[in-house]
Amino acid sequence: MQITAAVTRQAHTKFCVEEIELEGPREDEILVKIAAVGLCHTDLLVTEEVLPFAFPAVLGHEGGGIVQQVGASVTKVKPGDHVLMTFNSCGKCSSCTSGKPCYCVHFTTQNYGGARADGSSALCSCGSRVHANFFGQSSFASHAIGNERNVVKIRDDVDFAMLAPLGCGVQTGAGAVMRSLDAKPGSSIIVFGGGSVGLSAVMGARIKGCKTIILVEPVAARRAIGLEIGATHALNPVGADVAALVRDIIPGGVDYAVDTSGVTAALQAGLQSLAMHGTLGLVGVPSNPGAELNVSIIGAISAGLTVKGIIEGDSVPDEFLPELVELYRAGRLPLDKIVTTYPFAEINQAVEDHKAGRCIKAVLVF
Ligand SMILES: [Zn+2]
Ligand SMILES: [Zn+2]
Repeated sequence: MQITAAVTRQAHTKFCVEEIELEGPREDEILVKIAAVGLCHTDLLVTEEVLPFAFPAVLGHEGGGIVQQVGASVTKVKPGDHVLMTFNSCGKCSSCTSGKPCYCVHFTTQNYGGARADGSSALCSCGSRVHANFFGQSSFASHAIGNERNVVKIRDDVDFAMLAPLGCGVQTGAGAVMRSLDAKPGSSIIVFGGGSVGLSAVMGARIKGCKTIILVEPVAARRAIGLEIGATHALNPVGADVAALVRDIIPGGVDYAVDTSGVTAALQAGLQSLAMHGTLGLVGVPSNPGAELNVSIIGAISAGLTVKGIIEGDSVPDEFLPELVELYRAGRLPLDKIVTTYPFAEINQAVEDHKAGRCIKAVLVF
């Protein structure tokens, strides 16, 4: 079928919104008519070649929409169901079978392989292959193909423009605090970075009942939103000794630190801000793929510190995404404070605004 897609022809170029061909769903696949799709920093890490992917390609991995058609073996959803699309996983490896699909042994090929497991692509343009299957979906398009592992049914009375980002950015930030760190009520936390992932972490910290929630973010407008949605303190890191400021707020240090910035200085400040037995969660991907963190071995041993890598907030999407939808409906996940919508055709404007910090979470709507 003919679909409209934002095609990335090569790295470091703009998206081309054009008509291309999408195959119908195979036996185990699900065709989703996309209503809204979030723009995530990871899409841009691919176009900027920080993360490898083959071009031309259709990216996009926070799709939300309505099931249009399913393959013969699909039982999870049916045409007409409202669904969110999320990361893909194999369902068979030791991680997947033990409830940790975020750490699927085949995560890279399942999400960054550019093709189905058999090497084929569902997308082509004028007879030439277009790489697909980005996060098992390639949803910068009017229609996307997913499968039972990465398509999650949700209730049908909530706006896709608000919910689409649950599939990656919001699930990652909120999940880092709610699942990966499982922050305890009354605890203290510092979050580095006030983008969509960091602000979702702040929302998650409030949901979990953290008493002290410190947001570190250089942009004043983002600090203000952080305070509105639950941060108790907001610090500007520019020219500041963040760890010293944290000790002024909470002399014993914080129980948890979450870095969503990928900035090495932030990570070091996070480590220095930790209380005894504290945990530093690593979420933000550094722009330099070789970036390293300095950890004093004696310091880590004597303080009982944990450094934890986090993918997709340790989410089990079939459980966590519906939970987040209900939190949104209850007003406890104020996504309307961070979402800016754009018509799909204005994807390049959304990218520009994202890069310039003029929006926090851009969502493209059809
Ligand atoms: Zn797996
Ligand atoms: Zn993402």
